[in-house]
Amino acid sequence: MHRTKVRIVEDALDANDTIARANRADFDRAGVTVVNLMSAPGAGKTALLERVAGDVPGARVGVLEGDVQGSMDAERLAALHVPVTQLNTEPSFGGECHLDANMVRSALDALPLQEIDLLVIENVGNLVCPAEFKVGEDVRVMVSSVTEGEDKPLKYPLMFRTCDLVLVNKIDLLPHLDYDLDRFLYNLDQVNPGAQRLLVSARTGDGIEAWRQWLADLAARTGERALL
Ligand code: MG
Ligand code: ZN
Repeated sequence: MHRTKVRIVEDALDANDTIARANRADFDRAGVTVVNLMSAPGAGKTALLERVAGDVPGARVGVLEGDVQGSMDAERLAALHVPVTQLNTEPSFGGECHLDANMVRSALDALPLQEIDLLVIENVGNLVCPAEFKVGEDVRVMVSSVTEGEDKPLKYPLMFRTCDLVLVNKIDLLPHLDYDLDRFLYNLDQVNPGAQRLLVSARTGDGIEAWRQWLADLAARTGERALL
């Protein structure tokens, strides 16, 4: 019985990967670079997007906002005059705690792919299953806030291992916490040696220029690839 269960999960992930590849092909054809942005709830994904989405040099940004319910985050971003498409997992997808390739596929027609160069998909806040489901992204960025504790890479290794950049957020709070930043970075290197990381604060703006530049460099790199 156990063996059958494992098979079903693997088949579901294979099917997801096939759809993710189709999404990726559509994004490539449109010349759009895609970031899958992930974190635990409340780590600051939306706040870090608000800081940069309206102004990434050389790249027009669009956002696909994944939430179980509601459109509060989408409204915050739309206020920056950035095209935002809302994707709720609640009505048609059973309130899933992650986005999968099929959900993103269902939103493709609603995305203004011809008007953007960089699409940031804000995933549902969760450190577990979003890491298992590719959605058609070029890169994965995760936000880990210093209020979550320095043990998180060891507890959620798949998330930390499969991301291309870790944004360590809320560093303005460090003086008030027992959080050991060196310990966190050591743990990160245990699961993802040499992983890119930026220390940021969406609240004070620390590190935000580096985050903006990282996105600009990413868009420029993949834009060149599209020309080849
Ligand atoms: Mg959010
Ligand atoms: Zn989930």
